[in-house]
Amino acid sequence: MPDLLTIDEALAAVLARAPSLGAETVAVARAAGRVLAEDAVAAVDLPGFRSSAMDGYAVRVADGSGSRRIVDRSAAGRPAHRALGPGEAIEISTGAVVPDGADAVVPVEEVVVDGESVTVAVVQEGDNIRPVGGDVTAGAVVAEAGSVVGPAQVGALAAAGIAEVRCGRVPRVAILPTGTELRAPGDTLGAGEIYESNGVMLAAQVASAGGLADRLPPVGDDPDATRAALARALDADVLITSGGVSVGPHDLVRGTLAELGAEEVFWRVSMRPGKPIAFAVRRSTLVFGLPGNPVSSLVGFELFVRPALLALQGAAEPGPRFRPAVLGAPVRRGAERDALVRARTRVDGDRLVVDPLRGQESHMIVRSSAADALVLVPRGEGELAAGAAVSYVPV
Ligand code: AMP
Ligand code: MG
Repeated sequence: MPDLLTIDEALAAVLARAPSLGAETVAVARAAGRVLAEDAVAAVDLPGFRSSAMDGYAVRVADGSGSRRIVDRSAAGRPAHRALGPGEAIEISTGAVVPDGADAVVPVEEVVVDGESVTVAVVQEGDNIRPVGGDVTAGAVVAEAGSVVGPAQVGALAAAGIAEVRCGRVPRVAILPTGTELRAPGDTLGAGEIYESNGVMLAAQVASAGGLADRLPPVGDDPDATRAALARALDADVLITSGGVSVGPHDLVRGTLAELGAEEVFWRVSMRPGKPIAFAVRRSTLVFGLPGNPVSSLVGFELFVRPALLALQGAAEPGPRFRPAVLGAPVRRGAERDALVRARTRVDGDRLVVDPLRGQESHMIVRSSAADALVLVPRGEGELAAGAAVSYVPV
């Protein structure tokens, strides 16, 4: 690999090493957030019977407008006991079976009830009747292999009578923060110490990408401790380390990984923030060495680790999914590196505008936490003007 890959090259190198981990059977109630390994196919027609779209009266169109005798009732889950004959109406509720013989439902708001009879105006055949299979027919695909199951898909799967689905196995992701200076929130800080934040942030990102995070205690910048911690963590499907991948004397992660048999695929990507990111493979374990600056960690995860986790689960489109937007204010470009600028989205008429935040330095996680977009600002001369077309990844 040449020195300093582009973002696209690095992403391609990652995805080329992130095959699906295989599939397992999952109850639909637990499938949200998972990736389907096979097409999920409807077990039943939906609707499964001619069903009423309204509370009202089931009638025969051939009877025309005028009065009908109410002979029965069809409620949801409690069909009428008989078919509908000429001159008859059956009271019906939303979602109830439309009785045989009926070919329209008249909403209750449009009828006049007088004791045992109901008067309706003109109706059209099929009015307010939901046909069998109008949503999906048995055997048809409800959700496709490679798609991520969200709340609406869970609902669709259950509605279509699917109890279990085949999903990609959940990647086990070890998260190892490195740095002698790191303390847990709540501890008293000594001279030069800071609170550890990347571990919890990465764990949240991993969970949102469908992975199972195992947050390991931070390890100091000590060769033996680093080696022991990395050796244990390499059991996972994915290991994310934080910090220690730059060029300082205390940056031990890459060298130690190499000693442990991890093969480095790349180190350093032409991007800002997060340039010193490292990616290595040890047997089937993918290792991401994210730089310690919190914003670099945040961005590195979104660009490379999230797609890898989705690919390991079998996602057809692991991303990152860039979306179009318009820049709300000018941004200076970097001559050599593409930038991921933290920004907030805003709707302006029919345009989605991204406003860059103040404080774009890679240690400024509090300022970055106001962002809902990482805007790609390609390298170049001068600045990108307000109004320029850009793309962004939601965060
Ligand atoms: P490094 O990549 O180890 O050189 O760290 C770069 C910067 O990020 C330093 O200021 C570190 O103190 C800081 N840093 C490293 N790891 C973490 C972490 N887990 N949480 C918060 N800040 C960190
Ligand atoms: Mg460090």
